Amino acid sequence: MQPRYYFDHNATTPLSGEVMQALVPALQEVYGNASSIHQCGQAARQKLEGARRQVAAMLGATPKEIVLLSGGTEADNLAMFGIARPGSHVITTGIEHAAVLGAARRLEQRGVSVSYLKPSRAGFVSPQDVREALRPETALVSVMHANNETGVVQPIAGIAAVCREAGVLLHSDGVQAAGRIAVNVRALGVDLYSVSAHKMYAPKGIGALYVRSGVSLEPQIFGGRHERERRAGTENVPSAVAFGRAAEWICGHVGEEAARLAALRDRLERGIVSVVSDTRVNGANAERTPNTSNICFTGVEGEAMVIALDLRGFAVSSGSACSSGAVEPSHVLLAMGLSPQEARSSVRFSLGRGNDEAQVDALIEAVAAAAGHLRRVSTYSHA
Ligand code: PLP
Repeated sequence: MQPRYYFDHNATTPLSGEVMQALVPALQEVYGNASSIHQCGQAARQKLEGARRQVAAMLGATPKEIVLLSGGTEADNLAMFGIARPGSHVITTGIEHAAVLGAARRLEQRGVSVSYLKPSRAGFVSPQDVREALRPETALVSVMHANNETGVVQPIAGIAAVCREAGVLLHSDGVQAAGRIAVNVRALGVDLYSVSAHKMYAPKGIGALYVRSGVSLEPQIFGGRHERERRAGTENVPSAVAFGRAAEWICGHVGEEAARLAALRDRLERGIVSVVSDTRVNGANAERTPNTSNICFTGVEGEAMVIALDLRGFAVSSGSACSSGAVEPSHVLLAMGLSPQEARSSVRFSLGRGNDEAQVDALIEAVAAAAGHLRRVSTYSHA
């Protein structure tokens, strides 16, 4: 068996050592219901609130502003459905994750009008475009912080200034930003911000929505009075503990790890572009998260490259994980103005804590070999 080198951290991350050390005892010992008044329940409550404090600290928020829930998809849905009402207007972008776009389409069916902004060729939407799309009935603007496919970071603080001036709430999907770059919700000026634990070395199935104090949000799941009546359901305390530990690690290490990953990412891009002809980095001219590289290999089918690299022991992705297997080219790259063929020829490499220079160099070699082979055998047009 060849070594497995994992370069798909934007799809999900493995559990880190410190998260495992927090999670395993919590699974064994913290079994009380955090709503019970006996000591087992109170122990669980304490752990839950400790985790909430850690997540809040990672985002520069207060614990009361953090709603713990099942992950990024639920956070995005709660933000969108919790604010928009029939007859109102929502502004979002054509490059959002399916969690936001799916919610937006459903809102349209419920009588909400939605504008989808197009990014520039570099991959970002401008605050001016948001300003021009505003209407008197606009209730919400939702623009992601960092894109899952290209890593392009949106000018959220500038968009927030436009929204504040107009008295419109701003939600940002921060699932690919939190943990990769330092995030402070107050400095960004957002009202709602989604994060997901499994993108930061913690388990799947837990995440959070930051809801700025004073923002009134219609819950979407009804039942008990959990999470300050914003999200009913018995809390998943062990996963929250793991999420909290991951958030704590990020508070102490995000800058240092971002610098390490940016150097590795640059090494990867320089290596690939210099040894494989006709390659281009998508979104190269924009600010990007340090771990993400999306590269177009002219004349190569992205899916074929993913399979060829998998056979050589490297896990990478073409487009977002949710659309892998689907034949449609990436909606993100199309929105950025790439042709369907360019979009289908693009591959995403997303680095993380387990990667080092030796792995990156091995990946460059494997990419060069795979691209050479695929171009030789392919009937795929080089046009
Ligand atoms: N938003 C973005 C930008 C994502 O990349 C993802 C996951 O890939 C999600 C939302 C969904 O998060 P989750 O998998 O926690 O539901």
